[in-house]
Amino acid sequence: MSANARINATRLWQSLMDMAKIGATAKGGVHRIAFSDEDRQARDLFRSWCDEAGYTVRVDKFGNMFARRPGRDPDLPAVLVGSHLDSQPTGGKFDGAYGVLSALEVLRSLDDMGQETLRPVEVVNWTNEEGAIFKPMIGSEVFTGALPLDKAYAMPDPQGRTLEEDLRAIGYAGDMELNPDPLHCYFEVHIEQGPILEREAAPIGIVSAGAGIRWYTLTLTGFDSHAGPTPMDVRRDALVGAAEVVLEVRKIALAQGEDGRGTVGCLTPYPASPNVIPGRVELTIDFRHASDEALTAMHEALGTAVAEIARRHDLSADLQQTVHSPRIPFHPTLQGMIRDAAKELGYAHRDLVSGAGHDAFHLAKVIPTALMFIPCENGVSHNESENITQEDSEAGGNVLLQAVLRAANDPAPLKMPA
Ligand SMILES: [Zn+2]
Repeated sequence: MSANARINATRLWQSLMDMAKIGATAKGGVHRIAFSDEDRQARDLFRSWCDEAGYTVRVDKFGNMFARRPGRDPDLPAVLVGSHLDSQPTGGKFDGAYGVLSALEVLRSLDDMGQETLRPVEVVNWTNEEGAIFKPMIGSEVFTGALPLDKAYAMPDPQGRTLEEDLRAIGYAGDMELNPDPLHCYFEVHIEQGPILEREAAPIGIVSAGAGIRWYTLTLTGFDSHAGPTPMDVRRDALVGAAEVVLEVRKIALAQGEDGRGTVGCLTPYPASPNVIPGRVELTIDFRHASDEALTAMHEALGTAVAEIARRHDLSADLQQTVHSPRIPFHPTLQGMIRDAAKELGYAHRDLVSGAGHDAFHLAKVIPTALMFIPCENGVSHNESENITQEDSEAGGNVLLQAVLRAANDPAPLKMPA
């Protein structure tokens, strides 16, 4: 019976299109920033679908929404599945929404088939994943206890109101305590936001880990002087040094294989005048890698390269690491459930690493967690043109259904990975 279970792909697609009407933009995307009226409407629509189906909806103190379908044994910890319904200011129809609505579709399909599960299955919509307001993934971070509720409440929005006031204004400061019941595990499905699955014609991506991240600020200081009279051989041009750092960051990332990422995203020269040699440059560096050892190697290579470049151009260098978040492994048993489901359903699949952050990163620190990707067109997201195919939407929903069934019918608890 379970092996034949499939989602209703037409209904999933229709739900995605109905949700995309909320905050729809002229260019085909959505504008559904957390705590906005569009966010409220999206939550209301999600809640109305859950009410119609008879799932109990609860809202916690930070607005995270949970819709529960009971299991045969109400005392067993639930399988949690979901993502987020908020978007970037000019976001796409599928980032986040696909994860929430494919999870809802899993519940609806179980109803259609009259199929019970041993454990309860619960769909979650996390608050403010995108970070268009203050910072990303606040809802899941508060839920896991990594960010205290009072700190999150006190964070300001661009209008100077607190997030607590914002939640109350849209009617989604709930009364449920944060993370009140033990959970068995968490599944999240998301669009890849990169080109690998599409390139390899694989509808299913099994995320083995979230990339480790290191961020830096670097200030290079030389000497600003007149661009005309100062000969080239006596200059202490901080921007020339910075240019070499930019190229070196790229080389360092490339040296660590296909999972290496190195980016200089901000670069500011001073005094920024056409006829003054830049005496100071501030820049940022973002390194990511699936392997903590490789990320450490990149860290060391950066220190060496910056010192060498500074020496050669007679600059002083102040390199500060501002973020260090180690690699986040996902649960091997849950990854196996996704892999087995994809195999049995005949969908091509591959393992990959997530370079972007997701709510699953926070959940993975407290409960067994898996993250799965489906392809998106040209790897484009955070853009109104973001797109997926109906075939991939169906494949992702079917694999999620099968993986959830495996987890929800297994009475044995899962251990956190070492
Ligand atoms: Zn997202």
